[in-house]
Amino acid sequence: MKKATFAVAVAAAVGIAGAAQAQPYPSRPITMVVPFAAGGPTDTLARILGERMRQSLGQTIVIENTTGAAGSIGVSRVVRAAPDGYTVGIGHWSTHVINGAIYPLNYDLLTDLDPVALLPANPQLIVTKPNVPAKDLKELIAWAKENQDKISGGTAGAGSASHIGGIYFQQKTGARYPFVPYRGTGPAIQDLIAGQIDIMVDQSSNSLPQVQNGKLRAFAVTASKRIASAPDIPTVDEAGLPGFYISVWHGLWVPRGTPKEAIERLTAAAQEALADPGVQKRLADLGQEIPPRDVQTPDGLNRVQKAEIEKWWPIVKAANIKAE
Ligand code: ASP
Repeated sequence: MKKATFAVAVAAAVGIAGAAQAQPYPSRPITMVVPFAAGGPTDTLARILGERMRQSLGQTIVIENTTGAAGSIGVSRVVRAAPDGYTVGIGHWSTHVINGAIYPLNYDLLTDLDPVALLPANPQLIVTKPNVPAKDLKELIAWAKENQDKISGGTAGAGSASHIGGIYFQQKTGARYPFVPYRGTGPAIQDLIAGQIDIMVDQSSNSLPQVQNGKLRAFAVTASKRIASAPDIPTVDEAGLPGFYISVWHGLWVPRGTPKEAIERLTAAAQEALADPGVQKRLADLGQEIPPRDVQTPDGLNRVQKAEIEKWWPIVKAANIKAE
């Protein structure tokens, strides 16, 4: 090869490599880590949003369920992933607030992740297997107390939203039945339908469809307002457990140090998904409430997470919940 030709070839090769590096984000599929089992509430939200975010991003979002220890294993997987915008973690009130007060985490929930978007919140439902001999919440509480040695409650692991809901229920009612941990409330609810376990305090987005098709019974919603798509279920105030409110809000995070442009694209894609009427309808049917658009942001999520850590850590530490 003549010298001049060689120089041109090198320049071309460098040019190609340079162009490859500068490929616009995202140029390949993005993995969204769901820290609970498939079919559960977090997984369902991830799939509804991921499907719509694909349209905005032009890349598939691959859902990966990394389960265990109330979601803390999946969150750790995100913390340790390359900060390149291709690994995103979805989580919620318990994975990104409560777990920090219960587990000896080897990461910091606030400083080892960068926030991307605040996502919808849903209340929980006090639900049971279908054939419980109680016609309302008061009768259910009496039945649970009488039968506390025979019945059990399902949770998604120590410290998960369903576990905190269950503990709160026990504190308020005095019914001390044992808990059975699952890798998410998706599998737990299957056992509830089958009657292997008896009671759960579970996110509406998971149990509402099963209540509506008659496979489970719901006795109250843990909010001050009824769910618009399920107006027959009374609030805890109406049913006899005043003030028993739990709202499970969700968020998207990436490993700390992810490029700003990637975070901006992801935030915008999440906002576009939440503004889509089809997505809004699906979420409303599950009892999920969408936060205002101006807080569906990294800053909005960061503020909510910090405020919730301040509120809940003292409560959870005082409850002395043990990690699995
Ligand atoms: N969010 C969990 C799940 O997806 C359940 C929980 O926190 O209770 O299964």
